[in-house]
Parts: sequence; structure tokens; C-alpha cells
Amino acid sequence: MTQEVRVRFAPSPTGPLHIGGVRTALYNYLFAHKMGGKFIIRIEDTDQSRFVPGAEDYIRESLDWLGIQADESPWTSGEVGPYRQSERKADYMQYAVELVEKGHAYYAFDTPEELEAMRERLTAARVVQPQYNNITRTQMKNSLTLPAGEVQRRLESGDPYVIRVKIPRQEEVRLKDLIRGWVVVHTSTLDDKVLMKSDGMPTYHLANIVDDHLMGITHVIRGEEWLPSAPLHVLLYKYLGWKDSMPEFAHLPLLLKPDGNGKLSKRDGDKLGFPVFPIDWENQKDGASAPGFREQGYLPDALLNFLAFLGWNPGDDRELFTKDELIEAFSLERIGKSGTKFDIEKAKWYNEQYLKNMDNEVLAEFIIADAAKDGFELSKELATAAAALNKERVTFPQELWPASKLLVIAPQSFDEKIASKRWNQDAIKVLNQYISRLGDFEAGFNPESAKEELAAAAEAEEIKMGKVMQAVRLAVTGSGAGPDLMRVFSILGKDEVIKRIEFALSELTSID
Ligand code: GLU
Repeated sequence: MTQEVRVRFAPSPTGPLHIGGVRTALYNYLFAHKMGGKFIIRIEDTDQSRFVPGAEDYIRESLDWLGIQADESPWTSGEVGPYRQSERKADYMQYAVELVEKGHAYYAFDTPEELEAMRERLTAARVVQPQYNNITRTQMKNSLTLPAGEVQRRLESGDPYVIRVKIPRQEEVRLKDLIRGWVVVHTSTLDDKVLMKSDGMPTYHLANIVDDHLMGITHVIRGEEWLPSAPLHVLLYKYLGWKDSMPEFAHLPLLLKPDGNGKLSKRDGDKLGFPVFPIDWENQKDGASAPGFREQGYLPDALLNFLAFLGWNPGDDRELFTKDELIEAFSLERIGKSGTKFDIEKAKWYNEQYLKNMDNEVLAEFIIADAAKDGFELSKELATAAAALNKERVTFPQELWPASKLLVIAPQSFDEKIASKRWNQDAIKVLNQYISRLGDFEAGFNPESAKEELAAAAEAEEIKMGKVMQAVRLAVTGSGAGPDLMRVFSILGKDEVIKRIEFALSELTSID
């Protein structure tokens, strides 16, 4: 029997979840479901100095909104928890001590001043990347250089210390990334990273691999920015005796700014004029805020579809996928190696596609609610007709009510530019003819009959209908462009159309 696939999304609650993080969560989710496995959410909150209140709730709400549900998480049940790292503190210390005992880690007592002095010394000696490593550690205060008795004494007397990994001097670390292929790193380029901090909390590196092991994670799918950490993780798996059950790695390509110039960062949202966060964010401490896709009118399924394509493709030209279809089509093999440009126009295109496929009755609710805010009470019937009329012409649901206002509010003024160009004796003749015909019209008033009567009116005046169409629109709607005019007429009804044309005829003077 093959092993059950178990993947995890492991955000840190250090602020709002970046849209790139949402893509990572989505790929994990799709892969888990495709493989019939489990998708786990783990909160990596060991860095207390970067903890931001409200960030965990934000992550939860964002993923809920997008329908990226976890099988196991801090908010659901699960057998391999705790799913919040701060609740597993004691475990990490135990493994760190095990590493010390096996000779793969050591206690380090250096003060911040001593560390700074080391950096200055190395910089003065023209060392490009001054770091605590297999060479410099020999000159520092740690359990490799101090006599055993002193180490013991310092530990017992509560001297502050960290535990660092002891990176071997001459070794090649190899790992096969499912997206990038073989990655080979020489240990001479790695530093002796801190595993346990002086506050008794583990660093990301130790906590991450301990949790992945204890949670039975089979595949680590995460952003490319974590690739440089992967060799250290491979070493830690080996040192803890977990090499055989080490997860496979898949590092996702970066999300780039729209011009391809660098990584799409958390600060880019303001600069580029579109959100980089899934939902609105407000920092509970300093009140800083950032806009989200949800509040701007993006539909969750559309955003999900868009995000799935930022780095992955199905291998053919299909672009519209429901969540189930994405699961069916998804594979890690079809994730590209190079960074993907974030194209907001494409996100809008997806929204338009999803919006026009939504039920008119559902969209009617948006219109009714937005109209109510402006003091208009719309019937379900009118709002449904308005949705059908306008849903292919807008990008966001909140644009539906403004686009539908012409069905509710008769024009009080008329676009002057259009009037000066299009309002003339021909238009006046045809409109007069049209309202007189409509006055006698008894049959069903619908887009077809509305058009037939207009054509008949133009013909009676021996004027080409095309020449007066914009003036007709101007008379009934006040502007020169808008939705299908005959459908507008049909929704307004014959009497309202006559009333509006009469008003226009009385207001607009001929410029002809
Ligand atoms: N806590 C890390 C983050 O915030 C997780 C990286 C990983 O998936 O290993 O991105």
C-alpha cells in the first residue's frame, strides 16, 4: 500500500497573508485532494517578536472565504497536533538537546556585543558574508570551545544561551526538488543557524522539521524563498534519524510584479493600485490597513481560478476551471520553474467570466442591497432583469447597481456632447413618430416589437434608423452609450419609454 499524501500550509501570523501565500495554500490543497490525501494548516508562531494580533484570524477568514478548507488545523480536530507551534514548545527542546548529545549541535553563550565584534572583525578582514560557521565558531563562546565544566556551570546558573546546529565543514548536501530538480549545496556555504533561541523558543528551522516529521508530512510545497533553507533541513532530518521518512520538496516559483521586475511584495499593493491581500486587513495595534480582493468585488471562485494559473497550467488552452476541475487537472509536474508575473487584468478577466455565469437571481441581491443604500427599493423582478441586462458589461458586482440606475431613474439632463452631435430634426421626427405609434400599440412590448416599431417609425419618416439611434438612446437614458437599448425599453415598459421621450423632446432643442 502506498503512503497517504499529507501536505501542509504553514503560515506565520506576522501580518496579513500575502496573495502568494494564498497560492501556496491552494497548491497544497489541490495536491492533497488530487492524491486523495490530507491538507493540514499549521500556524508557525515561534517568533514572538514578530507576532501580530489578529493575523491568525485573518489567515483563517481568508482561506474560509476562498474555500481552501483544511482537514486538520488549529481550528478543526486532528490527531497530530498541536497545530500551533507555540503549544509544542517542550518537544522542540527535547530534539535540540538530542542533537547536542549526538554532536550535531552545540550551546552558544555569545552576547550580542560579542557577535557584533565577530562581524566587525570579519568585515575588517574582508570576509564577504561574515557569519557564525564552521570556521568562526572556534573563536566564539560555545560548548565546543569552553571547558565542559564551564558549560555545565553556565547552563545550571541560567546564563542565556542558544543552541546552534553544527554544520560539517566539507560535505555536499543534495536534494531532489520536484520542481527544480537536483539542488546541490556545499556545507562550506552554510552557517551554524540557531535552532533554539535564548527565550526557549525554537527557530523556524527546527520547529518546521520537527513538526513536519511528527505530522507525517510527505510533501513540502512552499515558496521558492525557502529553497536556501532546504539543505539545512535535509541535514537536520539526517541528524535526527528521520532521513528515510523525509518529505519530498517542491519549491514554487516566485510571484513577480506585473513588469516582471522583482518579487511581488507586501508593499506593492499600494504602489501598483491593486490588492496583494485576499481580504481587507487592519492592524489591531497601529491601525495600518491594506485593501483585499474580496472587498474590491473579486469572486472567490474567480480568484481561485486565477491563482491556480499563476505558475501552473493544465497543458492545454482551457482557462476556466471549477475547484473540482482544478483538483482533477492539478499536478506538480506542470508547475513552471520560472517566476510568474502577476497580471491584474487577467484577474479581472476571470472575475468577468465568473460574474456573467452567475444566476441573475443571485446577482439581483447585490443590486437590491446597493440600491437600498441609495434609498431605492427595487423589486426582485426588476433587479433580476437588471442583472441579466448588465452582467456581461461589468467586472465587479458592485458595478451592477450604478449600471442599472438608468432603469430606475429617468434622465433629468442629457449628455451635451452627444446632444450637440446627434440631436437633430431627423431624430425629433422619428421620436415623435415612435411615441405616437407606441401610443396605439396594443401587442406585447418586448425588445423585438420595440425595435420593429422604431424601424417602422423611421421608415415612415424616410430616415435611416441607424442615423438616429444614438439620439433615441440619449432621449431615454440621457447618455450616448449603455446596455442593449431595446432590452432597456422592454424592461422600462411602453409607458415609461413614451414619458421619457416626451420629456426629452420638451427639454432638448434642435441644433439642426
Ligand atoms: N512559516 C513559514 C512561512 O511563513 C513556512 C515555510 C514552510 O512552508 O516551510 O512561510
